[in-house]
Amino acid sequence: MSNHKCPVTGCSITVGSHHLMCGSHWACVPKRLADEVYRTYRAAPHTEPHLAAMRAAILAVNSIVANQYGPARELHGKPKRPPVREVLSRSEISSNLQPSH
Ligand SMILES: [Zn+2]
Repeated sequence: MSNHKCPVTGCSITVGSHHLMCGSHWACVPKRLADEVYRTYRAAPHTEPHLAAMRAAILAVNSIVANQYGPARELHGKPKRPPVREVLSRSEISSNLQPSH
């Protein structure tokens, strides 16, 4: 095994072969799923239960990241909430309506 890239969408940090993902993303994994990865790893590393637990952990972090930074449009179509820019431009418009002179 060699080093690999953190599997979380948009993350390019290289992590060691004994780690599933980079430290900051591993910290985002819900405890229940992290425990499951350890438990299945100890029971039988790199078998289907362990791989499934790792996939579940990666999926969980990906959904947390998507909610934090906005949905990936190319994957999900329409955004769940307006991007920050639209909120900003609305206040720009209202300030433009005020007569400045
Ligand atoms: Zn990462």
